[in-house]
Amino acid sequence: MGEVTKCELCGEPMPQGEEMFKFHGYSGNCPKPPLPRLISGAEMIALERRRQIEVEGWTSEHDDEHSMAQMAIAGLSYASVAASQVRLRDGCIKEVLPIYWPFSPDWWKPANDPVRNLVKAGALIAAEIDRLQRNSK
Ligand SMILES: [Zn+2]
Repeated sequence: MGEVTKCELCGEPMPQGEEMFKFHGYSGNCPKPPLPRLISGAEMIALERRRQIEVEGWTSEHDDEHSMAQMAIAGLSYASVAASQVRLRDGCIKEVLPIYWPFSPDWWKPANDPVRNLVKAGALIAAEIDRLQRNSK
């Protein structure tokens, strides 16, 4: 109790009697500009997946050549390095090439930022899901 209800769009307190509404609009516009919205993990992965296709040229035909779950294992590699970075708070951990990395060492491009590595992992897993769906028909 005593908690002030705040508008979900602008972050300002809701006027008395309008606390049941989640955002301004009933009795007027938001008094402040909207809060910056953080892009969600799923959205970041979808954008990275699109980048892999459009910029890296990883088309369906290209992905289908990796029929031994290499993309899933590559995703595992990036998720693993991200986990170590978070646990050890160490961005230098990226230099270690996982022994199970399925591609040429030149393709191992981890970032210092664990979020970036998790996004890569997610996009690789999404690519593996698409490949499995295509080939199960
Ligand atoms: Zn508002």
